[in-house]
Amino acid sequence: MNIPANNPLLTSWVEVPEHSDFPIQNLPFGIFKTAQLTPRVGVRIGDFVLDLKTLFVLGYLENLPFELADFDTFYLNGLMKKGKKGSRDLRNRISKLLQADFDDLMVNEHHVAQVLIPISQVEMCMPVQIGDYTDFYSSREHATNVGTMFRDPANALLPNWLWIPVGYHGRASSVILSGEAFYRPKGQIKPDPAADPIFAACRNLDFELETAFITFDGKPLGDSISTAEAEEFIFGMVLFNDWSARDIQTWEYVPLGPFLAKNFASSISAWIVTLDALEPFKVSSPEQHPEVLSYLKYEGLKSYDIALEVAIQPENSVETVISRSNFKYMYWNMAQQLAHHTVNGCNIRGGDLMGSGTISGPTEDSYGSMLELAWKGTKPLKLNDGSERKFIQDLDTVILRGHCEKDGVRIGFGEVSAKVLPAKN
Ligand code: CA
Repeated sequence: MNIPANNPLLTSWVEVPEHSDFPIQNLPFGIFKTAQLTPRVGVRIGDFVLDLKTLFVLGYLENLPFELADFDTFYLNGLMKKGKKGSRDLRNRISKLLQADFDDLMVNEHHVAQVLIPISQVEMCMPVQIGDYTDFYSSREHATNVGTMFRDPANALLPNWLWIPVGYHGRASSVILSGEAFYRPKGQIKPDPAADPIFAACRNLDFELETAFITFDGKPLGDSISTAEAEEFIFGMVLFNDWSARDIQTWEYVPLGPFLAKNFASSISAWIVTLDALEPFKVSSPEQHPEVLSYLKYEGLKSYDIALEVAIQPENSVETVISRSNFKYMYWNMAQQLAHHTVNGCNIRGGDLMGSGTISGPTEDSYGSMLELAWKGTKPLKLNDGSERKFIQDLDTVILRGHCEKDGVRIGFGEVSAKVLPAKN
């Protein structure tokens, strides 16, 4: 696929720091505001945000299928109504305007001063109005680790796992933006297996290292999206931390799966990296045995080489990277997840959020949750400040980061972070 904005040779007249997640080949979309500017659509380049509302008003986005309201808005949903082609054409136009050898915008210094805003002056906002949130469970390593710990090491994967991209419907109302703190959840836990449950603050609070994809409008109720069509319905990806209360989960999850253990907070990163920008980083997914049913078969490369890491930063202390993983380990890919989600005729809408499931790699230092890294609390992790963690403590900040790198181009997601506040009385 030839996407001009992806050319690794492109450079911009906007200065981009070395090792930035946001070179001209990325151009992710988000919503921002400043002390002077109301919320609006922005595109990130280096340490600047390009103000698309003002860029539109100044006439730089003509002959594209957008109107002012698509940029002068609290959410990206309106822009996303124009689908894959609209957003691709928009990204290609923005790329052109920022290229070093194209001076339409560059030479208008008074325009540049209006549309390029230093990131230090910007406050990011929730990028999309999320209608529905679905979370999958697509890492074989994660499912095997959890099955080994809680059930039977010899039969760690449940019989359906290699046939179905297992998932559940989550809750959109408690999806929060990176940087927003949340309160430790309370609920029913059963610390003594022989005694009755008690009501208390969660004692085993965990993160889950995930990515998520955000959809365009899908098809009418009753229709399905095939694996071949799936990418046409995916706008882009974010980093995603699916916070989990393991002790609440253990007691409540049979027979219908997670409920209050998961719906108190889920954090997403602020910039949506388009699937187009990730195209050069496509890689193969793990081989699948047994052979999947026909509606889950796919052709071509459907995964992405995205290096991921997790860090814990205790209050007033240094951070410690506790895991390094990669999106490419996922057994089920996004095309299969979307095909499965819609195979029964379930419709998807623009702004739906689909979590990957915890992304655990094959080694002990690549696991995507504290549950696995500290193996159910039996192997506490040592942090750089000398303290230990079995799970996440109050006032800890957990930070996820991710990026792709190839041919001298680094496409990153920035980070998603959140601090845990003590449970409310
Ligand atoms: Ca999850």
